[in-house]
Amino acid sequence: MLIECPWCGPRAESEFSCGGEADIVRPAEPDKLSDREWGDYLFMRKNPRGVHREQWMHAQGCRRWFMATRDTVTYAFQGYETFGGASAGHAAKEGKQS
Ligand SMILES: [Zn+2]
Repeated sequence: MLIECPWCGPRAESEFSCGGEADIVRPAEPDKLSDREWGDYLFMRKNPRGVHREQWMHAQGCRRWFMATRDTVTYAFQGYETFGGASAGHAAKEGKQS
């Protein structure tokens, strides 16, 4: 399977690392969470059927992160987004915008 890096173009899936579900926001004040809430943040992830967003890093290439929209049923990638230009470094920057 090929994954298309926004910078490098289509490359083998083996060059990429999946960073998991996109749009997970790190709790603002982790100290105030219970152990259970913190555990939920660390370990609980939706496992949706259908289209969802994931973070990927082109680990064997440009080592940049991007966001891919993927259908978990067909494994078809449907689109790519970068993290707003300037610093493609970290997902946490994006946050929730809704
Ligand atoms: Zn790349």
